Formats: sequence, C-alpha cells, structure tokens
Amino acid sequence: MAFDIDTIRAQFPIFQRPTPLGQPLTYLDSAATSQKPQVVIDALVDFYQHFNANIGRGSYWPASAATQAYEDARQQVAHFLRMPGTHAVVFTSGTTDAINKVARSFLLPRLRTGDEVVITEMEHHANLVPWQQLCLQAGAILRVVPLGTDGRLDMHTYSQWLGAKTRMVALTAVSNTLGLVNDVQTMTRMAHDRGIPVLVDAAQAVAHQIVDVGAIDCDFLVFSGHKMYGPTGIGVLCARKKLLDDMPPVAFGGGMVRHVTFGHTGFAPVPQRHEAGTPPIAGAIGLQAAIVFLEAIGMDAIHQYLSELTSYAMQQIEGLHGVTVLNRQAVGAPLFSFVIDGIHPHDIAGLLNESGIAVRAGHHCTQPLMEAMGVAATTRISFGVYNTTHDVDRLVVALQEAMDFFG
Ligand code: PMP
Repeated sequence: MAFDIDTIRAQFPIFQRPTPLGQPLTYLDSAATSQKPQVVIDALVDFYQHFNANIGRGSYWPASAATQAYEDARQQVAHFLRMPGTHAVVFTSGTTDAINKVARSFLLPRLRTGDEVVITEMEHHANLVPWQQLCLQAGAILRVVPLGTDGRLDMHTYSQWLGAKTRMVALTAVSNTLGLVNDVQTMTRMAHDRGIPVLVDAAQAVAHQIVDVGAIDCDFLVFSGHKMYGPTGIGVLCARKKLLDDMPPVAFGGGMVRHVTFGHTGFAPVPQRHEAGTPPIAGAIGLQAAIVFLEAIGMDAIHQYLSELTSYAMQQIEGLHGVTVLNRQAVGAPLFSFVIDGIHPHDIAGLLNESGIAVRAGHHCTQPLMEAMGVAATTRISFGVYNTTHDVDRLVVALQEAMDFFG
C-alpha cells in the first residue's frame, strides 16, 4: 500500500485538537511513546464494552471470548515477528519487565563469580541496570562495548569480549538516543559461534522496520507495545522455547500453575508459566490492533517514509548555525539527538513547547552514554507515521526563534 500521510495522520485523534496554548501539536517524541490511532483506542473500548472478562478460567461467555482474543493477539505477535516454531511469546508489562524476567529467571541461576556479561555503551538503562545488578550480586563482570571512531559499535572489541567466561550478550537493535542501528543478526551469530545466548532489545526497532526473529536467531527479543502505536502496560518477551521451558518462574500466583497443594506446586507449561496473575488482556488486544494497523500500511513503506523524513529533518537542522547533530554519520533510524551551542536542551524543549512542539530533552535513560560522549544532555527528536515535513519546518522555525531568544 502507498504511504498516504494525510489518511494515516487523520487516524490519530490527538492531532485534531490544539494544545492548551492553542497551537497545533507537532509531536516529535515517538521514541518515548507513540500516539495511538483510533483503531487501537476502539479495540480497547470494544473489549471493555463488549466482552470484558478474565481469561483462562471462565467456562462462560464472555470469558471464552476474552481468552480467545488474548491468544489471538499472541498469534498475531508471533506472525509479526516472523517467529519460528522454536520460539514462544510471553506477554509482559513492557520491555523493562521482559528484560528483568530474563535477567532473574535465565541468567541469575547460571551466573558465577568471575563470569562476564556483554552489553553496549548505548544501552537504555532498562538493558543495563538489570545486568549490572546481577553482576554485582554474583561477583560477575559487566563488559561494555564502546562506540568506535566511526560512531558505530566497535566490533573488534565486541569480538574480543566474547570469551569463555561470557554468559550473556544483551544489546539494543536501535539506540534510543542516537538512532544508531546495530547489526544484531551478525552480532548474534558471533555470540552463538561461541555458545553465548543473546537478548535483543527491539523497543526502538519494531515500529519502523521488519523485525525477523527467525533471521536474527536471537534467544530473547523484547519490546513494548506503547512505542509501536499500542497501549501502555503490554510488552513482549519472544524467546527460544527450550530456554523458557527450563527457566524457573520468578513471579508466582494464579494462572501459572497446574496443581497446587500446601506442600508443592506444579507449574503450567510455557508461556503461562511465565505469566503469573491476571495478564494485560486489554493491552494484548490493543497491541494486536496496532500490529494490524502497521501491517495494513506495510513495514517497508513505513521504513522508507520515515527514513526520508529523518534525512530531510537532519539536513534542515544541521543547516542551523550552532547546532550539532550527534553521531550523524551513523543515524539509521527515525530519531536523532542534537546540541545547540550555549543553550541547555531543557530550555530548548520548554520554548518549543510554547509553539506546540513536543521534543525530549535530557539523558534519555542513557546516562553512561552521555558521559562517554561528554555531554550532559541532548535534545532528541523522533518520528512516527503521523509526522510530516511540515512538522520539521515548524521545528526549524521555532529552533531559530529559540536561538535568537537566547542569542
Ligand atoms: N529499551 C529501549 C531501547 C528504549 O528506548 C526503552 C524506552 N525508552 C526501553 C528499553 C524501556 O521501555 P519501557 O519503558 O516501555 O519498558
């Protein structure tokens, strides 16, 4: 399907009303969370209005309908990820929850003093702190692959650190701060050649590129629904089934058991064994609607549109005197960070807000990366399927005004 921006944008009700200051909204923070199309909002309302019930246990309608919808959503996610039969989908509350699950359930029982875990310098805190805390607990070492002088990951160091003591590699598919895209397929193969399991954080990838779990062949892949036009509170842990089968549950309660006595509990099979309690039913249904929405446009069409928009934005913003785009040569996703001489990103973001332009300023949950790059904070813009060159032009005018104001 051709990318018809007017039709697509019209499906997002948030753009139909002005900001409290009476401006149209230019939303440039989709990397934090995307806006929601009407079909996703409708799917949530439809569930709560028409077939709301808890899943799994009820033998009545609407419980059967809700259970069916929840399991259909799981199938839709598997299809979206081109998931091979070797893997399974566990629903979580988000990327962070999924990574913590893998850290505590998969890695902790395997981690010994002196072992190593490899991550990259550009990881979001969600894919850093859980591994760091595990390493501290076990007396293991966290190895961090730095960026090279070309602005990309230093693959030589990566290769060197895949050693006999490495128990896990955890890496992001796309940097949420720099827009740098990593070759997770090659990096997974390199780790597998040495028998090391790999987790891929696809939180910043799933909304704008095809993510093919079969091709990547990683052991774990995680993402959040809310960054891909779905609701908050739903996430995905797609994992190799034989690993999930062996992983002890780390949350216990209803829904994940087969038989319970006061002395013993037999656990349900995967995936239920890793989904204790009432799961995010509405979230899964909303996520399914988001996937249908994305696939109706087509991931290739989305990728192409957002690549062109990002190139246009970078060109315009770099044309402004005093602006430096960080890591520009390596940007491959619809987001990038920049700094402006003499003006703090928070001041920029505050002024842009007065023009109805939403950008993110700060460390973007990548404080160690900021430190490595020698900046305290950046301004980040990130695009969704509703953004236009008009949004970029508004941003450029407002940035120039901000620089005149502070200049
Ligand atoms: N990883 C990356 C790359 C992210 O961009 C984010 C969200 N900014 C997360 C993990 C955490 O996602 P969530 O807060 O939805 O768990």
